Amino acid sequence: LVVVKDVQKHYGDFQALKDIDLTVDRGEVVVVIGPSGSGKSTLCRTINRLETITSGTITIDGKELPKEGKALANLRAEVGMVFQSFNLFSHLTILENVTLGPIRVRGLKKAEAEKEARELLDRVGVGHQASKLPAQLSGGQQQRVAIARALAMRPKVMLFDEPTSALDPEMINEVLDVMVGLAHDGMTMIVVTHEMGFARKAANRVVFMADGQIVEQATPEEFFTRPKSARAKDFLSKLI
Ligand code: ATP
Ligand code: MG
Repeated sequence: LVVVKDVQKHYGDFQALKDIDLTVDRGEVVVVIGPSGSGKSTLCRTINRLETITSGTITIDGKELPKEGKALANLRAEVGMVFQSFNLFSHLTILENVTLGPIRVRGLKKAEAEKEARELLDRVGVGHQASKLPAQLSGGQQQRVAIARALAMRPKVMLFDEPTSALDPEMINEVLDVMVGLAHDGMTMIVVTHEMGFARKAANRVVFMADGQIVEQATPEEFFTRPKSARAKDFLSKLI
């Protein structure tokens, strides 16, 4: 579904991604881990074309990422993204946050969009908060709204970049539970996270990055018990 081929990404002289090859199949859950600065966020952002690439190709469902314009907007709709910060529109209600994209981009009527949005908000456990403003919700609730908002675009793949790292510990699990549910429902997911419990529970594959490269890929079981590279062994030894 997602094919990243020989991708290089430079920020000026600095090369943030080197020779990245990554294929994610439909329904697969791939967890990306690695030290700070290894290029995990950059990889996510190039897949969504928030960042341009220097060379290589990225295709989603057989289509190469368009450069700009309507084609890019349509493709973005197919790629849901959830960041560390929730990025909800603070002046819009929870319901409006979720219906905005479907009305504008998918062309749904307001009533239709609201019906779908309420179902999604129920699914992530915040259905009763629909008429509140984001600031009236806890961080964990806001992040679940951000997930519902991304899902409302009917994405083919969901990208998560450290979705729980800005949350208080007691709220982490409520967000991870929603993500595990999505994984079980067959959503294709690329998840950057330090939550190794999630990786063990939900990932089909772990991708370990260091210095802008994919150093190692394996099943969670294999990666956590028998990491091959020195970099991965070192990284794992520093986790608690
Ligand atoms: P973290 O775990 O801290 O989030 P990361 O693996 O997500 O790290 P990236 O944010 O992808 O790392 O950054 C990879 C490298 O690219 C870093 O060295 C970073 O300083 C550099 N970088 C990221 N964004 C930019 C930018 N906009 N301009 C210049 N350099 C950047
Ligand atoms: Mg990052």
